[in-house]
Amino acid sequence: MSLPGTPSNPLRVAIIGSGPSGFYAADHLQRQTNLVVQVDLFDRLPTPYGLVRGGVAPDHQKIKSVTKAYDRVASHPNFRFYGNVEFGRDLTHDDLVQRYHAIIYAVGAQSDRRMDIPGEDLPGSHPATEFVAWYNAHPDYADYEFDLSQESVAVVGLGNVAMDVIRILARTPEELAKTDIADYALEALRHSRVRNIYVLGRRGPAQAAYTTPEIKELGELADASMVVAPEEVILDPFSQQVFDSGDDKEVVRNVEVLKGYAEQGDSGKTRKIIMRFAVSPVEISGQGCVQAVKIVKNELVPDGKGGVKARATDQFETIPVGLIFRSVGYRGVPLPGVPFDDRAGVIPNDKGRVLTAPQSGTVVTGDYVVGWIKRGPSGIIGTNKPDSVETVEMLLEDMRGDKLLTPRDPSRDSLEALLESRGVRVVTYADWQRLDAIEQERGQSRGAPRLKFSRVDEMLAALDTEPKPVPGD
Ligand code: NAP
Repeated sequence: MSLPGTPSNPLRVAIIGSGPSGFYAADHLQRQTNLVVQVDLFDRLPTPYGLVRGGVAPDHQKIKSVTKAYDRVASHPNFRFYGNVEFGRDLTHDDLVQRYHAIIYAVGAQSDRRMDIPGEDLPGSHPATEFVAWYNAHPDYADYEFDLSQESVAVVGLGNVAMDVIRILARTPEELAKTDIADYALEALRHSRVRNIYVLGRRGPAQAAYTTPEIKELGELADASMVVAPEEVILDPFSQQVFDSGDDKEVVRNVEVLKGYAEQGDSGKTRKIIMRFAVSPVEISGQGCVQAVKIVKNELVPDGKGGVKARATDQFETIPVGLIFRSVGYRGVPLPGVPFDDRAGVIPNDKGRVLTAPQSGTVVTGDYVVGWIKRGPSGIIGTNKPDSVETVEMLLEDMRGDKLLTPRDPSRDSLEALLESRGVRVVTYADWQRLDAIEQERGQSRGAPRLKFSRVDEMLAALDTEPKPVPGD
C-alpha cells in the first residue's frame, strides 16, 4: 500500500491532550502542505488548552491570549476535537492503533513531586499543583478544601508555580475579582485570614527558579509587603562570584530585586511575604493537622556540575504554620498501555519517539510524545513549540520510511461509531466555543474576563440548554 498522506489515504494522527504541546504538534502537522493530514485531538475534559486554562494563574490573563493561535489550528478543515473523551477509559491504546497511523501523547505532568519528609500527608499540607487546579476551576479539584482560616502559611520552593500560589494567597479580593479565578475560590479567599506567607527556598537567591518579572510582581501587590531580612541576601562565595561576573543576567536581576526589597524593609501592608533562603523543611508536625514546619539551615556547596547544592547543617528552626503548599515540581503519571519511566516521571523517548523502556533503544511503533510528559515539567508555554516540532519531524521521518502503524480501520466514522457505542458524550470544538462564549458572558457581572464552569455536568447541561447558533447568524 502507498504511504499515507494522500487524499484517499490521509495520514491519521491522534493527539492525546489538548494543552500547548498537543496544539503545537497539530500545528506542525498541518504545516505539511504536501501531505493530507487528519488530526484528531482528544481531551478528557470538555474544555481544551490544558495548563493554559488549568495552570496559568488567573491574574496572568495576557499569557492566555496564546489560545488564539490554538483556535486557528482548530479551525483547519482536517482537524477535529474530541473533548470529554478519556484515554484509557473511553478509548484504549488498541482502539487507536486500529484507527490511526500515529499517536502522540501530550498529557503533561498531572501529579506532583514529593518531598519525602515526615508529616507530608498531614491535613493542611498540600501539593501546590492541587491549589492551582482548584483556583483555576479544574473539575477534578472543585471540591477540594484549603483551610484559609490559618494566619501563617508556608510555600516550599522558588519556582514560578510557587510565585503564582503566593500571589493568589496575597492578593486582595478586589484584585482577584477582576480575574477568571473560580467563583468558589474567590469566595473562599474573600474570607481568608492568611497574614504571613513564609517562602522556603532550599538554595539561595542566585539559584531561585523563578523569573524576574514574577519576583518583581510580588512587590507590586495592593496589600502585601515583601519581607526580606538583610542576611537573606548575603550570597555564599560561589554565588557572589556568579553575581559579580554578571554573566547570568537573570541571576543579577533576581538578586538585585531582592536586595531592593531588603533595603526597602517591610512596607507595613496587611499581608507579609517572608522570603527565607537556604532552608529545607525536614518535618511537618501537628496534632491531626499541620501546626508547624521544622526547617534546617543549609549551606551551599559545589555540586560538581558547575553549580551549588544545598547541604544541611545542624541548625534547626520551627515555624508555626497551619497550611503548607509544597511547590517542588510537577510529575507525570503513567498511561495504560504506554511505557513509563518511573524514576523520571516521563514516557521514555528518544527525541519524541516512545521507547519500550528508558535507554532501551527500541521504539514503540506509532507512539510519540511531546511536552512535559516527554521532557519533564520545565520551560514556559513557548518551549513546547520546538519540542513538538522535534517530535513531529521524527513522526514524518518514520512515515517516509514506512515505519508507522497500519490501521485496519482508518476513519473518523469508525472512531465516532465506537465512541457512540460506548455511550461517550463527545464535546466538539464548536461546543467548546459555545461554552467559551457562555463563560465570557457570565464573567461580565463580576468585571472578569470569564466565569469558568468548574463541573463537567454543568458544562454538558449548559450545552444542552443553550440554543445552538443558526448558521449565517
Ligand atoms: P520549577 O521551576 O522546577 O521549581 C521547583 C522549585 O522547587 C525549585 O525552586 C526547586 O529548588 C524546588 N525544589 C525541588 N525539590 C525540592 C525539595 N525537595 N525541597 C525543597 N525545594 C525543592 O517548577 P515549578 O515552579 O513547578 O514550575 C514548572 C515550570 O512551569 C517551570 O519551567 C516554570 O518556569 C513554568 N511556569 C512558568 C510560569 C510563568 O511563566 N509565569 C508560571 C508557572 C510555571 P532547586 O532549584 O534547588 O531544585
